[in-house]
Amino acid sequence: MAGPDESSDDEWRRRLTPEQYRIAREGGTEPAFTGEYYAHKEPGRYLCAACGADLFHSEEKYDSGSGWPSFTAPAVPEAVTERRDLSHGMIRTEVRCGCCGAHLGHVFPDGPRPTGLRYCINSAILKFEVG
Ligand code: FE
Repeated sequence: MAGPDESSDDEWRRRLTPEQYRIAREGGTEPAFTGEYYAHKEPGRYLCAACGADLFHSEEKYDSGSGWPSFTAPAVPEAVTERRDLSHGMIRTEVRCGCCGAHLGHVFPDGPRPTGLRYCINSAILKFEVG
């Protein structure tokens, strides 16, 4: 599926629920421990809910205790883009879908081995696929 990156705002609104839109397009965050996938342990792939790109795999998923799905790495490095985010008085690194640019969450340098990274991702903008 082609990403909605070149689509109009109406197209994004049509493709996404209001909660997904708030996260993907406005940098929102779902409340901790409320999303569908923070405790999800099935083997499979986590796709971008906006464009279907393969973002994260269950092999890299771990329980960070944060209340959001947490991964040590993306499926492949190009799956996501990262940029400095200075909002809310914090210095953070924002993570976006490398295909459509949807905001996904943030990456923090407090993850486990081997990367030491914690990709902290909103469940609402992920779509799980078995296998
Ligand atoms: Fe995407």
